[in-house]
Amino acid sequence: MLLGSDGQLRQTIFGEMSALAARTGAINLGQGFPDEDGPFEVLDAARQAITEGVNQYPPALGMPVLREAIAAHQERFYGIRVDPDRQVLVTAGATEALASTILALTDEGDEVLTLEPFYDAYGALIAFGKATHVTVPLRAPHFQPDHDDLRAAVTDRTRLILINSPHNPTGSVLPRDTLELLIELAYEHDAIIVTDEVYEHLTFGVEHIPISSLPGGFDRTVTISSAGKTFNTTGWKIGWIVAPEPLVQAILAVKQYLTFVNGAPFQPAIAVGLGLGDEFFSTAASTLEKKCGILSAGLRSAGFSVSTPQAGYFVIADAAALGVTDAAEFCRELPSLAGVAAVPVSAFVHPDRREGFETLLRFAFCKKVDVLERAAAQLASLSL
Ligand code: PMP
Ligand code: GLN
Repeated sequence: MLLGSDGQLRQTIFGEMSALAARTGAINLGQGFPDEDGPFEVLDAARQAITEGVNQYPPALGMPVLREAIAAHQERFYGIRVDPDRQVLVTAGATEALASTILALTDEGDEVLTLEPFYDAYGALIAFGKATHVTVPLRAPHFQPDHDDLRAAVTDRTRLILINSPHNPTGSVLPRDTLELLIELAYEHDAIIVTDEVYEHLTFGVEHIPISSLPGGFDRTVTISSAGKTFNTTGWKIGWIVAPEPLVQAILAVKQYLTFVNGAPFQPAIAVGLGLGDEFFSTAASTLEKKCGILSAGLRSAGFSVSTPQAGYFVIADAAALGVTDAAEFCRELPSLAGVAAVPVSAFVHPDRREGFETLLRFAFCKKVDVLERAAAQLASLSL
């Protein structure tokens, strides 16, 4: 079976680098997960739900309290009005949302367009569905797609336009004019837009515009998000889909045979999180931006050239100036050289499209300040 960006079935790069970090005692800046708990109110609501017996299968669409909170969140932050009983579906993380969407909406040979680099699950899930993966490159330093490339890549064969903004691994945020072009192309070629917005609240002074908030956007879009990044609950795997009812029904038909349902006591807890005050959301973003600054300074002192992410958990550092020619090999050595683990950006691109990405590394900065300071100091004393 064809899997992943290189056609091979193997452990994800995040798993491989996390195992390497554990073996060597290195600071793990490879896999993107926070090392601090999220808001007390959210954690406490889950504890309370367990105590109150919310421990059996929730309804297939997700618990009403969470669907209502998701609908209220879309209206509060983006002015998007949705029906919580028809246009919202709770999933086992964004991963299951992506899997069931891709499997439900593509047939063998349909084209799915993504940006490249792309989150590794996209390549594997498109392969699971036997669809054809077409990409448009995001080039350093700004990691934005060229509009002519997008126009050329979307054709009548395109079934899904799968975007990810804010973007993993590059930290770029798609601007309004690009989103408008994608809507225009989706109408012209009868394609459906799937947008992965798991980093929606973690932007650094840049506006996150959900494509479904733009004119014409909602009717053709499946919006996917997740609680993991916003509330530091990546292990809870509570995600969701917001889409027009016929799309929700089609996706549910697949989803019911993947996990069916998940996370009963976590669902009301995430509903509490989505209702937290504005300050919670703005502080989460500004705290992360400061952390990005700490790690980026260490990387610069080490001699990397470092891009400035607009959002998310990750910073891209180019090791070319250090004499590195293969970031994948370098990532295997970095734990012993500097006591820090990272992942190579080549893990997010197809093997035959690595040009321009070979010397780039992705570092996660969603860690405690003292951990980042230690990592920055260790990297700054790196000598090759
Ligand atoms: N999409 C992107 C872009 C991600 O970075 C991640 C995980 N970090 C996911 C989806 C998966 O999210 P979840 O853990 O909610 O399945
Ligand atoms: N999304 C996380 C990352 O990009 C990893 C999730 C995983 O390990 N599959 O680091």
